[in-house]
Amino acid sequence: MTERVLVTGAGGFIGHHLVRYLKDKGVWVRGVDIKRPEYETTSADDFQVLDLRRRDECLVATRDVDQVFHLAADMGGIGFITAFHADVASNNVLINTHMLEASDINGVKRFLFSSSACIYPQYLQDKPDVTPLKETDAYPADPEEGYGWEKLFMEKMCQYYLEDKGLETRIVRFHNVYGPLGTYDGGREKAPAAICRKVALTQDADEIEIWGDGHQTRSFMYIEDCLEGIYRLMQSDYQHPLNLGTDRLVTIDELVDIICGVAGKCLVKRHDVSKPQGVRGRNSDNSELRRVLGWEPLISLEVGLGHNYNWIHEQLGREGRLSQPTTV
Ligand code: NAD
Repeated sequence: MTERVLVTGAGGFIGHHLVRYLKDKGVWVRGVDIKRPEYETTSADDFQVLDLRRRDECLVATRDVDQVFHLAADMGGIGFITAFHADVASNNVLINTHMLEASDINGVKRFLFSSSACIYPQYLQDKPDVTPLKETDAYPADPEEGYGWEKLFMEKMCQYYLEDKGLETRIVRFHNVYGPLGTYDGGREKAPAAICRKVALTQDADEIEIWGDGHQTRSFMYIEDCLEGIYRLMQSDYQHPLNLGTDRLVTIDELVDIICGVAGKCLVKRHDVSKPQGVRGRNSDNSELRRVLGWEPLISLEVGLGHNYNWIHEQLGREGRLSQPTTV
C-alpha cells in the first residue's frame, strides 16, 4: 500500500494501535483525534488534534488522503453508552455525517466505518446460549438505544454514499475488542479491562464485584486480530457490513475466572444485578468473515487476556495503586 491514509480516533484504543500497524507496513499515516494518545506517543507522520463534530475540521482532516479508517466516536463500555443516549447519539451523528461528506468532497477513494455488534436486534440476544449473529440478522431493526441506532443509521449512510457518489465504503461490525493501551478506568472502560483492573487491585481470596449475575455471555477479540481484520477488509472488494470478532462464547463469570487464572488469584465473586449488563447473550457468526477474508481471529482469550492483564497491572503499579486494594 503506497497511499496516504487517515486514521480518525488515533488518540484512542483501536486507532492508536492501527497507526502503529500501518506504519509497520510502510504507509504514510495522518492521525486525528480530539485528544492525543494517553499511554504512549503516536507513530503517525502527522497528528492533528481536531474536533470531528465540526464540518470544517473534517475537511482539514481528510485533505490529501486516499483512504480513511474512521474510528473516532464518542463511546465507552455498557455503563457509559446506556447512561448518555443523547450525547452519544448526537455527537456521533455529527462526527460520522461530516466525515463522510468531507471524504467525498476531498476525493477520498476508500472509507472504512467502524460499526458495532450493538446494531443487532435485542430480541435475538435475550438468552445466554444465544445463536451467533449473522450479518443479515440486523433487520428488522431493534438495536441498542442511542449508540446502536446511530451506528445502524451510519451503515445506511455508507451504503448511500457508495450508491450515489461512488465512495468505496467498507463497514466492519466489531465484537468486543480488548488489549493493552485501552481505557481501564474512569467510566468508559469495557468489561475485560474493568475486570483486569479489579482483579489487579484485589488481594487473593478477597471479594470482586461483577456487574450482572455473571451468566450473561459475550465473545471477545484481541486487538492484533482486530487490526489484521480491518486491514484485510479494507483491501477487499466487499461492500456490505461484515462481522469482526471471535465466535468463542464465554460467560462473564468465565471471563473473570480466566483473568484470575492469569493473575494467579482465587477471588470470591459478588454479583451486583443493579448494574447495567446489556443484552443477555451475544456471539459472532463468522461464516461470512471466513468466506470474504479467508481468515478469522486466531489469538486465544487466555493469551490475549494475559497481555491485557499484565499491561493494566503495570499501569496501576506506575500509578502507585497496587497497595490500595480498597479503591477497586
Ligand atoms: P476509543 O474511545 O478508545 O476511541 C475513540 C476515539 O474517538 C477517542 O480517542 C476519542 O477521543 C475520539 N473522539 C471522540 N469524539 C471525537 C471528536 N469529536 N473528534 C475527534 N475525535 C473524537 O474507542 P475504540 O475502542 O478505539 O473504538 C474505535 C471505534 O470502534 C469506535 O467507532 C467504536 O464505536 C468502534 N467499536 C469499538 C468496539 C470495542 O470493543 N472497542 C466495539 C464496537 C465498535
